[in-house]
Amino acid sequence: MPERTRPKPKNRFEQAYWDALARHQLSLQRCKGCGFVRHPPGEFCPECWSGEFEWQPLSGTGSIVSIIWYMKSLDARFPEVPYNVALVRLTEGPALISNVVGSAFGEINIGDPVRARYCDETDFTALLFEKGSAG
Ligand SMILES: [Zn+2]
Repeated sequence: MPERTRPKPKNRFEQAYWDALARHQLSLQRCKGCGFVRHPPGEFCPECWSGEFEWQPLSGTGSIVSIIWYMKSLDARFPEVPYNVALVRLTEGPALISNVVGSAFGEINIGDPVRARYCDETDFTALLFEKGSAG
């Protein structure tokens, strides 16, 4: 498995997200004002502008909204092709971009259920997905 590099934090709210992933738990901010679950982490709720939130452990399940396959490597650290980049809609609402691993080209379709798979790298844990329901 290639070594991923830890993304540079964009704000002071991201650390709790990465800390949860290190425990193999997907947690996102849940607004205490309106209940909206949001991603990426930030200071204010985009729905009601409340600054009050709590970290909500999520199911780690979702479905494929969009997926593209790369047939040529554009990054020397990831020479194996094909690989994909997918937009995953979490069961709790937010969408995020990740990779779906464990499936070959042509085996993943829009709407397919996926579940979180945690990949421990040297200094952080990456959130990936694999085809399948909860479990
Ligand atoms: Zn809100």
